[in-house]
Parts: sequence; C-alpha cells; structure tokens
Amino acid sequence: MTDAHPLPFVDLKRQQEQVRPQIDAAITRVLDHGQYVLGPEVRELEKQLADFCGAPFALSCASGTDALLLALMAKDVGHGDAIFVPAFTFVATAEVVTLLHAKPVFVDIDADTYLMNMESLEAAIGESKKQGLTPRAIMPVDLFGQPADYEKIERIAKAHGLFVVADAAQSFGATRGGKRVGTLAPVTATSFFPPKPLGCYGDGGAVFTDDGEMLEVMQSLRVHGQGKDKYDNVRIGINGRLDTIQAAILLEKLAIFEGEIAARQRVAERYNAALGDVVQTPVVEPGATCVWAQYTIRAKTRDQVAAKLKDQGIPTAIYYPIPLHRQVAYKKFPVAPGGLPVSDKMAGEVLSLPMHPYLSEPDQNRIINAVKSACAS
Ligand SMILES: *Cc1c(COP(=O)(O)O)cnc(C)c1O
Repeated sequence: MTDAHPLPFVDLKRQQEQVRPQIDAAITRVLDHGQYVLGPEVRELEKQLADFCGAPFALSCASGTDALLLALMAKDVGHGDAIFVPAFTFVATAEVVTLLHAKPVFVDIDADTYLMNMESLEAAIGESKKQGLTPRAIMPVDLFGQPADYEKIERIAKAHGLFVVADAAQSFGATRGGKRVGTLAPVTATSFFPPKPLGCYGDGGAVFTDDGEMLEVMQSLRVHGQGKDKYDNVRIGINGRLDTIQAAILLEKLAIFEGEIAARQRVAERYNAALGDVVQTPVVEPGATCVWAQYTIRAKTRDQVAAKLKDQGIPTAIYYPIPLHRQVAYKKFPVAPGGLPVSDKMAGEVLSLPMHPYLSEPDQNRIINAVKSACAS
C-alpha cells in the first residue's frame, strides 16, 4: 500500500494539459467571430474528419446517438421494420431504433471479440420474418474500439436486401484490412462524448458515408428537415447540430489523435503481455486494429477482483452489467432464436481497466500487479 493515490479511469486532465493553450485560443476565436452554430470550425472539422479516415463525406452532429438516428431517418426506418443490433452494447444502439417505432431485434456476440455473432444474426433475420417484421438493417457495434467484420456483415446484408449502419461510437481511428473506421460500412456513426477515443468537452458526433445523396438528406434532417433554408421544411427532422465551440475543441484534439492511438496501443500491448496468463484478455482479430475505448478483461471472480482493485485506488467499470434484452425498457423486443447466452455470460464476467493514452508505465505496472494479486488470492 505504498502508492495508494487513486488513479483516474480515463485521464482527461492529462490530455488537456497537452493542448490547453491551443484549445483556449480556439475557443477565443469562436467567441470573437460569434458563429456559435454551424460556424467555420464545423465545416473545417468535417473536412478533417473525412480526410483522417478517408471517407468521402463526414457530417458532424450533436451526439453519437443523433448520428445513429440521422442514419436511420435518412433510410426512412419506421414502423414494422426490424433492425438487428447486438444486445451487448450501450443502450443508444437500440434506443434510436425504438424512437423511430421500428423494432430492435437482439443478436448475440462472440465471446472472444465481443462483436456481433454471424450465426445469431442469420437466425435473428429468420425470426424477424416469422414475427411478421420487415428486415431492414444491420447495426453492428465496434465494441470496445475494434471494428466489426464488415465484409462478412455486408455479405449477409446483401443476401437479405438489408443496409448496414456501423455503430462506431467507440472505434473512431481503428482499422480493418488497412481501412479506417468511417470507410468500412456504407454509413458509419461515431461519438465525441468526452471519454471516447476522440472526445470533445460536451456532446458531439459524426456520420460518415460515401453516398452523396444520403449526405444531403442527413444535412437536411440535422436542421429540422430543411429545404432551401430552415423555414422551408421538406421532411421531418431534428435539431442535431454540433456546436461550433465543440468543433473548435475537436480540431485541436484531432491534431494529437494519431499519437494518442499509438499510446493506447502501447498500453494495451503491455496489459496483454502481463495479464494474458492471469485473466481472459481481449482478442483483436487478424487484420483489425483497436483504439481501446475500453480494455476489458474477463474473470469468473470479477466482483472480487473489482473490489480488490478499488481498495488499492484502482477504478474499474463494467461494460455492460445488463445486456439490452434484459433491460426493463427493452425486454419486450425480439431476440435471436435460442436466446443470447454469450451476452448473458459476459455481463457477469467483464471488467474494464483504466485505459487512456497518458497512463504511465509505473501506473500500468501498479494496475497489472493489482490484477495479478487479486486473481491469485
Ligand atoms: C457512446 C455510445 C453511443 C452514443 O453516443 P453519445 O455520443 O453518447 O450519444 C452509441 N453507441 C455506443 C456503442 C456507444 O458506446
């Protein structure tokens, strides 16, 4: 107990120290020009986000949730539609489906990667038809920062006439097959909620697409379904814009993001090497890279491990303690035939460790040693 100062789970303060003068100056510029909504920084950010990942189009918006919503609204998702989502995810993935009066159909995940399981997906598509629903879209989640296998998913989508929306709220900056998130699916939604790999200082999000027509529809939806201007309403939309100040902050954070991804990678590699024999460490599939929104281990004695770490000033988190198909508000929706045994099991065993680009080696060692001793006793 020599070194018991509590560690942060995500250290946004240390990050801010890297860019504070730039962020102060960026905010001051916005205060000076006064274009708080859809100011020049918003367009600049969209351009730089698209360049960063190689997507033809990026559209910023008010949150990751709105990003998902805009994508589904642009595709006219509505009553009677079935949208296939993993149950082991943050609630927003299914929430946007229900807001449009469509039905989320819950799919199981793979135990090693926490990504959507393809057999469960196929079975869920069959089940939705049996229940008289119209299968419309697959919304895989890049859980913990690893992109789903969009090639496989796209094949299943094609075979059933579905479209794919990537919930990449946790994975901006990651790659698969050498391509960056934002280009792996026809439409990709991400989040800039503060602790996400690329975060702002409030709520924010973006949608990426290669479809210019869809971009225009989402642009309109983002501002109340505007036509020529916001007093010409050609469709029903939302107020889903990103604040200019948040865009200005994101531009400064994007400038150091590449280095932060590499630093996250180094932390994950040290965790992997040190903990691989002690607990189930996360698996990144061949050809994929992860941005480690979470570093999640698994232990049968999860609650004891968490308690012991807490005693030593090491915070942990459980993503996710209750899968969506078990949530009060969501248990009425269909699940893949046979249930979701992996999601149920994972909910009892997962534990996320502190993970951020500024986690020092001594602090990493402290966490590693604490996990080892918690698992040994
Ligand atoms: C964070 C998150 C969202 C929602 O993003 P917000 O910006 O908080 O609205 C959606 N899906 C997943 C998987 C997330 O982790």
